[in-house]
Amino acid sequence: MQHQVVQLQPATAFQSPNFQSYQHRQIDKIEALEQLPEHLRFEMKVVASVFPFRVNNFVIDNLIDWHKVPNDPVFQLTFPQRGMLDDESYELMAELHRRTPKPSAEEVHQLAQEIRKKLNPHPAGQMDKNVPQLDGEPVSGMQHKYKETVLFFPSQGQYCHSYCTFCFRWAQFVGKATRFNNNDADELHQYLREHKEVTDLLVTGGDPMVMRTSKLRGYLEALKGEEFDHIRTIRIGTKSLTFWPYRYVTDPDADDLLLLISELVAAGKHVSFMAHVNHLQELRTDVTREAIKRIRATGAQIRTQAPLLNNINEDPDMWAKMWQEQTQMGMIPYYMFIERDTGAKRYFELPLYRTWEVFRDAYKQVSGVSRTVRGPSMSAGPGKVEISGVTEVNGEKVFVLRFIQARNPEWVQRPFFAKYDETATWLDDLKPAFGEEKFFWQDEYEAM
Ligand SMILES: *Cc1c(COP(=O)(O)O)cnc(C)c1O
Repeated sequence: MQHQVVQLQPATAFQSPNFQSYQHRQIDKIEALEQLPEHLRFEMKVVASVFPFRVNNFVIDNLIDWHKVPNDPVFQLTFPQRGMLDDESYELMAELHRRTPKPSAEEVHQLAQEIRKKLNPHPAGQMDKNVPQLDGEPVSGMQHKYKETVLFFPSQGQYCHSYCTFCFRWAQFVGKATRFNNNDADELHQYLREHKEVTDLLVTGGDPMVMRTSKLRGYLEALKGEEFDHIRTIRIGTKSLTFWPYRYVTDPDADDLLLLISELVAAGKHVSFMAHVNHLQELRTDVTREAIKRIRATGAQIRTQAPLLNNINEDPDMWAKMWQEQTQMGMIPYYMFIERDTGAKRYFELPLYRTWEVFRDAYKQVSGVSRTVRGPSMSAGPGKVEISGVTEVNGEKVFVLRFIQARNPEWVQRPFFAKYDETATWLDDLKPAFGEEKFFWQDEYEAM
């Protein structure tokens, strides 16, 4: 019997535009924006002075419905919005932009830095809490928070094809570029060699898929070797499936990339793309469908994850359709996150009780094959905390919570309870229920 394979289309069936991206100083060059009122464009320039802005021609031409702007979800996802800044910060920056003579780039930068400092740029102790060491020295391009998983930030992957407005890593993309690290492949390999307890490598960024295949090969090919047998899973966090799907189809090194992935699979690794998809609308292009088929044909899996965001995807029916569509296309729904307490949170956040309602109203509509998704989950200092529900215990209304992942594996799957609070948007806002002083994990966490 002949083996049925997925039908792939030849790359020539797809016309790739030349990749073009626009940043803060090029907002006026984006033709599609010309139809918008002047005040909206001014607002975008003001907000883009504080938050990272970068959008590419594929997103502009294919993923945004311009007749729905400013309410279009992908427009909200990629273009700066007035509500991302509080009134005071906005007015200060707007005043500077209105001034004659025009402010210098340095003046804008100075004020932007002042504003950024107030926006909790490094949440959950990212800068200092999870940094691993090699020969007693901290390693800058890695985080090791959960025993079995190392996060790796390759130095050439520290930007994205387009930036998301709500990004929790926003502070990495503004201001001065960090030092280029030429030894990071060696450091990665040395660290993994010395840490046999690590089973999972999660390559992230920015977006590692902005890198050329030859660079990726430098990091990943070595993991086929026997000394890395303990590394069972290689995950790649990326937005490229929807922000630049040509990476897998027509880019000059697309085939070499797929070959590299196939080689890792053949070497026994579980390879999973952790695809970031915020809205069903992002999945509608033929080239994204083709990219997904090509990745799947290598034997790699694709898991999907995204935060729940006010003004972008606060819509349980959309989430249900998106998970079903993802399952249909061969992807595995994985996480629904809660927007982190950083950056433009004020514009995108939702109260915790609402995140649970949206999750539940979406989850109950899909069959078991899409119920691989977990959430709504907060990536907080002590771990990933799921809002399992809202209920009453002995007349007290409470949140039921549990760790999906934790700094101490012993905390995982132990339910705990917080006083119900309709205004709470993050773990820090919650107080233990039943008159207790502390959550069961709190003393231990504070001592870490
Ligand atoms: C989410 C996350 C992981 C991966 O956790 P899984 O539960 O295995 O998906 C690893 N490290 C950090 C810091 C994370 O936030």
